[in-house]
Amino acid sequence: MESIGENVKRVLERVDAAALRAGAGKITLVAASKQNDAARVREAFDAGVRAFGENRVQELEDKLAAGAYEGAKLHFIGHLQRNKVKNVAGRVDLIESVDSPELMELIGRRALERGTVQEVLLEVNIGREEAKSGVLPEGLDELAGRAAEIPGIRVRGLMAIPPAGAPRRETLGYFRQMYNLFVDIRDKKYDNVDVCILSMGMSADFEDAIACGANTVRVGSAIFGRRAYPVK
Ligand SMILES: *Cc1c(COP(=O)(O)O)cnc(C)c1O
Repeated sequence: MESIGENVKRVLERVDAAALRAGAGKITLVAASKQNDAARVREAFDAGVRAFGENRVQELEDKLAAGAYEGAKLHFIGHLQRNKVKNVAGRVDLIESVDSPELMELIGRRALERGTVQEVLLEVNIGREEAKSGVLPEGLDELAGRAAEIPGIRVRGLMAIPPAGAPRRETLGYFRQMYNLFVDIRDKKYDNVDVCILSMGMSADFEDAIACGANTVRVGSAIFGRRAYPVK
């Protein structure tokens, strides 16, 4: 099996090459570190990863306590339950998976209690999947408008997870739709909304995502190897 260090090196090279082809600026590689313990997270850090994404609150807490993310940015990328907001808001650099006014309110309140403003991304259910989180594309404007009324949060961009296992052509279509939504919302002026991040693309398709305008990619298995449970 390849080492985490070698995997990181290869993924960073592929990200750079894709950015060059796309004429893009700096791309943020977020290592999706679910199911990998603090020691493995540190291995990825030592190889050059400077941002990690967790999607389970308990894992995040355990690794945070172990100092796993020292020197790196920390993103929450999973579905955030209301009763877990207090464990996350104001403690991570970015919550990528915000999709309702209620969640924004709760996050904003907790962040202010901690004396901070929480940066968030709005998650879009771009494939209109029934069982998936995220706001539908047509609800995005209203959600961004609501964000402007909540002092404890700041919207920095959009995130999406297109349908798993879709043919490449279809996934490219979703990435392009996301880029269009991103440009639309970036060019509108809302208070508290300062959009510059487009987070899309995972191990199987991060180069395509970059080609379509992503500037943040979330890569798990290409760095850490295969996991026991699938992406949700
Ligand atoms: C696990 C995960 C990823 C990375 O998935 P891979 O296919 O292993 O690269 C990206 N985004 C989210 C939200 C995840 O939970």
